[in-house]
Amino acid sequence: MNATLRDASLPLDVRGRPLRDLRLSVIEACNFRCPYCMPADRIPDDHGLDAASRMSFDEIETLVRAFVRLGVNKLRLTGGEPLLRKRLPELVARLTTIAGLDDIALTTNGSLLAAQAGALREAGLRRLTISLDALDAGLFRELSGGRGDVENVFAGIAAAEAAGFTAIKFNCVVQRGVNENEVLPLIERFRGSGHIVRFIEYMDVGTCNGWDAARVLPSAELRDRIAARWPLRALDPHYRGEVASRYAFEDGLGEVGFVSSVSEPFCGDCHRARVSADGKLYTCLFAAEGTDLRPTLGLGEEAFAAHVAGLWSRRADRYSELRGAVGVPRKHVEMFLIGG
Ligand code: SAM
Ligand code: SF4
Ligand code: SF4
Repeated sequence: MNATLRDASLPLDVRGRPLRDLRLSVIEACNFRCPYCMPADRIPDDHGLDAASRMSFDEIETLVRAFVRLGVNKLRLTGGEPLLRKRLPELVARLTTIAGLDDIALTTNGSLLAAQAGALREAGLRRLTISLDALDAGLFRELSGGRGDVENVFAGIAAAEAAGFTAIKFNCVVQRGVNENEVLPLIERFRGSGHIVRFIEYMDVGTCNGWDAARVLPSAELRDRIAARWPLRALDPHYRGEVASRYAFEDGLGEVGFVSSVSEPFCGDCHRARVSADGKLYTCLFAAEGTDLRPTLGLGEEAFAAHVAGLWSRRADRYSELRGAVGVPRKHVEMFLIGG
């Protein structure tokens, strides 16, 4: 590790925010077509890059090492659907050897997890997030764009538990009038299991999901509904900048989280960079354009880290605080390219 960079030159952006967290997409393809992310009528099956346009494992490892030198200690692998990336456990095993990276997590739709949970665990993965918008089979299928079978996700959860994963996080994007009635059943299923359900406000990501503010169910309203059934107590964040606000069930049967990027923006504490599978850096989930990192990646870890530090130090993003204001661009990178 380069002591000079870590001690004195860790970059801060123009709002004084450090770089702590990297979200890396390993693939832009997905076997689902969730309407809020990749609507089937807008994103054709062959939309993806060819495999050669994706960063190789060597490039990914160099990139992650450089980000760690700049202050990153948390990495989340995502997609598209990351379990579609061939030899993913091999990549995980390589990344777990990077000193200074305290935490590697994976976000998946869970549909292919049954066959891969054991290998991912053996490779050293310890943290798993599974997206699950509904328990009802018909609604789940609809919310996957007609492609998913919730039984496969249940099999994936069972395999993950058998492989030793604990405290799995379940992400549910809540849309008013669509799946709000799934909220209490989801909690009921996982309360007491040690796993944590998190409810995410439906966001205006990308350009093609036909976002409608009327379908956003603000977390405060949802929290009241849940608390009416199971009283809740606010918990302190694990660390500054934690995206989900956490609440414990008063009866001790676990906790629930809320990600409220529409109703309670948290840009002031946003320490996260995102990199797409083809190596473009996005400094905000709602950025219009990314910066191609691959040309400088070839210059080696030191020069690459200095380049990224320069890019981070010019970052001024705070889209969620400006949402809806006059003159704020509506063009955003698609969610499936940067993985949330
Ligand atoms: N395919 C994987 C999955 O679904 O877990 C990983 C990538 S997916 C883009 C990451 C997360 O983004 C998922 O939990 C998904 O529900 C969330 N997401 C996608 N579109 C969203 C939207 N419009 N609003 C809120 N969350 C969204
Ligand atoms: Fe695929 Fe995940 Fe987007 Fe759904 S949310 S379409 S599973 S990338
Ligand atoms: Fe971070 Fe952009 Fe989201 Fe604000 S809108 S929290 S800057 S990703």
